[in-house]
Amino acid sequence: MKLTEDPHRRLNVLTNEWVLVSPHRATRPWQGEVATLQTTAEPAYDPTCYLCPGNSRAGGIQNPAYSNTFVFENDFAALKPGTPRERLDVECEGLLVAQGEPGLCRVICFSPRHDLTLATMGMDAIELVVRTWMEQFRELGEMPDINHVQIFENRGAMMGASNPHPHCQIWATASIPEAPSKELSTQQKYHTSCDRCLLCDYIKLERRLRVRVVAENARFVALVPFWAIWPFEILLCSRNHIGSMNDFASDDAPQLSAILKQITSTYDKVFGVPFPYSMGFHQSPTDGVDHPEWHFHAHFYPPLLRSATIRKFMVGFELLGTPQRDITPEIAAERLRELAGTSVGS
Ligand SMILES: [Zn+2]
Ligand SMILES: [Zn+2]
Ligand SMILES: [Zn+2]
Repeated sequence: MKLTEDPHRRLNVLTNEWVLVSPHRATRPWQGEVATLQTTAEPAYDPTCYLCPGNSRAGGIQNPAYSNTFVFENDFAALKPGTPRERLDVECEGLLVAQGEPGLCRVICFSPRHDLTLATMGMDAIELVVRTWMEQFRELGEMPDINHVQIFENRGAMMGASNPHPHCQIWATASIPEAPSKELSTQQKYHTSCDRCLLCDYIKLERRLRVRVVAENARFVALVPFWAIWPFEILLCSRNHIGSMNDFASDDAPQLSAILKQITSTYDKVFGVPFPYSMGFHQSPTDGVDHPEWHFHAHFYPPLLRSATIRKFMVGFELLGTPQRDITPEIAAERLRELAGTSVGS
């Protein structure tokens, strides 16, 4: 079986799920949507934006005249603190099961500037964002009811981001959500059976092969994982074994800022437009238990496939069966590496 030619499945060792890869289809003619993207430059300040400094949000709350980052409780929070964590089994047959989920939702504005992104912000400003993430992760993780802290950014209208103002969200929950929960169990199993860390071993292998690595610096490595589902998906890992931002050494914040800027500005070069994506950090659960198996990382899931407007959809077989991709992770990594101007390839 040839990974470059034959249809095959690849195992995501982090989730224990499979992805179908069809490299032979990468050259098939495209007959779907073809359109050009309208990109209008955003103003530095938008009087109608509810995230800009000094503007009013829904409910009449006024934003302060903030000058770097700004954190507030989401006005339309999906979670509420103090919700009873009670389990419900309607009719007691184990078929209609529910559980109360206490939690908090916050928003972090990255910058007072409406028109900037992580790709276009200065390094010092990005580092302030990283430091805000570190403070928030620590503060929320220490709350007794909070066992998982999810920091994530949805960028671009294509990803459902309702506002172009650079910002991210934090959803902190009592339970560990589905995706990190699967990764917790695979990392625990690997750690128990090998007495080593799964991602430490995986990064070591990828850094030796140099086929899927996109960029790296002294503290972090960005690669297209072997099992990537999204065309230009990236897995960003700390090179040292740390579980969360609570374990950051003094050099980690500037190094993380640098690689975030490198990844996002490389993305913007792929189709010459601000690249939409969902990204988020997967950090050690904050459940008060030691997690020597957990390795700090982030996922970038960008939907674009062939142009500024042609995106991948998770429909049909992907929705009902298994996610599938045509362009191989190796080819995607090569393309990103060229655009990043990095020479980590063999
Ligand atoms: Zn704004
Ligand atoms: Zn590790
Ligand atoms: Zn993860």
